[in-house]
Amino acid sequence: MNHAQLTALGRALRLLGEHGEVLTPDTPDAKLHEVKADLQRALDLLEESVSTAAPTTRCPEHPTGPVDESAPDLCLLCETRRRAARRAEFNGPSAPPAPPETPLPVRHPRRPPPAPAALAAGAVERSGVAVVRHPAPRPP
Ligand SMILES: [Zn+2]
Repeated sequence: MNHAQLTALGRALRLLGEHGEVLTPDTPDAKLHEVKADLQRALDLLEESVSTAAPTTRCPEHPTGPVDESAPDLCLLCETRRRAARRAEFNGPSAPPAPPETPLPVRHPRRPPPAPAALAAGAVERSGVAVVRHPAPRPP
């Protein structure tokens, strides 16, 4: 609903409220016809303002989703989810637990990390293990 529609619809609805305020048993038919015309106008404005289909369920997540008449919120999708949850609660987990992950065979076993003393002595470089040297910070 854009701003112009909002303004027009608000005005039309307030006008209907005013009609309701002054309604009496003596209200002449001419006035009732005027109310009817204003009501129709408000309905037309509403029709223009609403861009989506009317909700079929009371579910905030799936307002136009499939309907399950027996569900409290009429939502088939959520009711299916709730049924599954209740079943799981009743029967315990239906799916067997996944087998524990078996680690892939290691073709190149890692060398144990070098002792700090070896690192300091530069022995690691000679043994063939790459050592990442961090460049010395440059003076600004
Ligand atoms: Zn739902």
